[in-house]
Amino acid sequence: MKRRYLVAGNWKMHGSLSANAALLDALCARAAEFPAVELLVCPPAVYLESVQRRLAGTPWQLGAQNLSEQTEPGAHTGEILGRMLAEFGCRYVIVGHSERRALYGEDDARVARKFAAAQHSGLRPILCVGETLEQREAGQTEAVLARQLDAVLAHCGIAAFERAVIAYEPVWAIGTGRNATPEQAQAAHAFLRGRLAEKDAKLSNSIRLLYGGSVKADNAQALFAGADVDGGLVGGASLKADEFLAICAAAQRLSE
Ligand code: PEP
Repeated sequence: MKRRYLVAGNWKMHGSLSANAALLDALCARAAEFPAVELLVCPPAVYLESVQRRLAGTPWQLGAQNLSEQTEPGAHTGEILGRMLAEFGCRYVIVGHSERRALYGEDDARVARKFAAAQHSGLRPILCVGETLEQREAGQTEAVLARQLDAVLAHCGIAAFERAVIAYEPVWAIGTGRNATPEQAQAAHAFLRGRLAEKDAKLSNSIRLLYGGSVKADNAQALFAGADVDGGLVGGASLKADEFLAICAAAQRLSE
């Protein structure tokens, strides 16, 4: 049996109190149409409290986009402790998004520490991995995925993945409108699952692997149909209620 689909919206640095209210009203109004799907939004941290209030009593869950690698409070101006995110109702946190790796200097070691910090606070990390176009064209996709995954495995151990999700996000597909083909996504997911299976076959079978990179209403069903694709991490399309709800509907259809 296939794993439960998870559809997660990554709002990135978008939103305003009024825009969030309109989007969340639309998402909440139709949440009951997707009973088989786990539903998640990850707003900017300053909106967590208001989004938490709006989502209370609905099936929508809350996640954060980033956290500090620290596990205790301290002198780290501008950083947010995992425990604080948990206090505001976050269940998940995105770790190692390619924008953080590329624009904010997060290397594999820091991503691994953030993964550990998330778990320290009871949050489920959504670990993002993915190759650049240059790496894909050089035939390095699997080597890059292995390196990014192995860094976390070495730091945290395989058991830590029991309460985690992995998102395969080819960098060349993020925000570009050019999604991976369903075959490319499935191949990368199968590779990741196989690599985890070398450590723990049972866990590798139960962990959810999301695809991210220009997921839209019109490609979600084909992408999510892959045997090893368990949902999506959705950026741009998660800001448009109709588009995001259509993506949730694709996951629901595939679950029936
Ligand atoms: C993302 O933000 O993780 C993402 C995949 O963005 P987009 O869907 O816009 O490509």
